[in-house]
Amino acid sequence: MWPSLTAYGIVTIISGIFLLPITGTFGMAIGLIGVIMFLASIIASPPTPEQPDDKSKRYCAYCIAEIDRNEKKCPFCETEQE
Ligand SMILES: [Zn+2]
Repeated sequence: MWPSLTAYGIVTIISGIFLLPITGTFGMAIGLIGVIMFLASIIASPPTPEQPDDKSKRYCAYCIAEIDRNEKKCPFCETEQE
């Protein structure tokens, strides 16, 4: 289950329904894409943020450099870490 994709799918289906009387086939295509997004969101799960293999390391939130987990400040870009 991927809730944000489910929401996008529903929005796309609704816009497809609105476009159907105006644009015909185009609205139908949009609605179909919405249905596909909706179905895909039930099967798919949200993408998990990338984590380093080494559990004592993590990526800097700003420059994506691999830094020590306990590091308060990134040694590369000096950005404060959460
Ligand atoms: Zn950094």
